[in-house]
Amino acid sequence: MGIGLATVYRNLALMVEDGMLSTVEHEGELRYDCNNQPHAHATCQSCGAIWDVPLPFDHENLSVTGLHTVSNVDFTLQGQCTGCAS
Ligand SMILES: [Zn+2]
Ligand SMILES: [Zn+2]
Repeated sequence: MGIGLATVYRNLALMVEDGMLSTVEHEGELRYDCNNQPHAHATCQSCGAIWDVPLPFDHENLSVTGLHTVSNVDFTLQGQCTGCAS
């Protein structure tokens, strides 16, 4: 008997709670993201690809109106990937 999918998802959810994994919502689908450092996502509006990109700013030194500290970043850039553009 293998590990049931429900067990896998429960373990993933626990890892998200522990901060070992984060989740990213893409086109209405929740995906698990094994990059738990704050980072941005880039997505292609033509083929739907999504990939990690470094944050274009230093989130720890950001001053955001109303936020005392910035602990997490949810940042997605949308456009056309090099594959679709060529
Ligand atoms: Zn594309
Ligand atoms: Zn990511």
